[in-house]
Amino acid sequence: MAQPGKDSLWRFAPSPNGYLHLGHAFSALSNEAAAQKSGGRLLLRIEDIDSTRCRPHFEQAIYEDLAWLGLAWEQPVRRQSAHRADYADGLDRLKRAGLVYPCFCTRSDIARAAGENAPRDPDGARLYPGTCRALSAHERAARLARGDKAAWRIDMAKALAGRPPLAWLEHGAPHAAEPALWGDALIARKDIATSYHLAVVVDDAVQGVSDVMRGADLLQATALHRLLQDKLALPAPRYWHHALLRDESDAKLSKSRLSKSLRDWRAEGASPQDIRRMLGF
Ligand code: GLU
Repeated sequence: MAQPGKDSLWRFAPSPNGYLHLGHAFSALSNEAAAQKSGGRLLLRIEDIDSTRCRPHFEQAIYEDLAWLGLAWEQPVRRQSAHRADYADGLDRLKRAGLVYPCFCTRSDIARAAGENAPRDPDGARLYPGTCRALSAHERAARLARGDKAAWRIDMAKALAGRPPLAWLEHGAPHAAEPALWGDALIARKDIATSYHLAVVVDDAVQGVSDVMRGADLLQATALHRLLQDKLALPAPRYWHHALLRDESDAKLSKSRLSKSLRDWRAEGASPQDIRRMLGF
């Protein structure tokens, strides 16, 4: 695949569940720099599907803080909460393909069934032990019909059966995807009817995002994103995961400095140039 050029489209996609800190600023400025270098465009996306954690005042603060930093982005801003039908459509397609199944388990059901020594996914959560994968079609239908709340999980073995290994372009080089590490991952939560993973692949495709630059904490999740793109016949962007800001990698960025919000920095008199300089831009 060609290197990013004038047709490239980048995005910064924060969740309004807190104030932006230096790590967010680093990610936003990295996207800005990459878009400028390639002559491409930059989008801002508000990832607010998790209504249990997102708040309007945090969203307002994102706009204010990024504008203060001097960032410019295209309008209109896509807000995930306004596009639930798109994610429902993606989920329906996976249902019709028989690649997801309803899961009625609670957290404690899973903990009990998986046990203390259960294998963990790359984020450290217990792999789903497969309890609801074993339900009969009849039982699934009956439980859904009586209104039992269901999450939807990918049937990983089925999704991977007979298909050649997946890969993505990471910093321009092929990177093997290992979605199996996630087991029967949650694709739609009970409470919000989608998940970060489903929403992010749908959004990147709908918006025509060509290049995804984000923190290395999402590198492993990209395997799941590639699998969903494959199953939903969506194009795969190029990926550029960047190192997270850490104390060890830069002694100047102490823990308290890292967790301090951009608005705290501003209140203490830092200028946007100070922040940019501190982060190497
Ligand atoms: N919304 C995610 C976050 O705030 C970022 C998702 C992404 O860039 O794919 O961590």
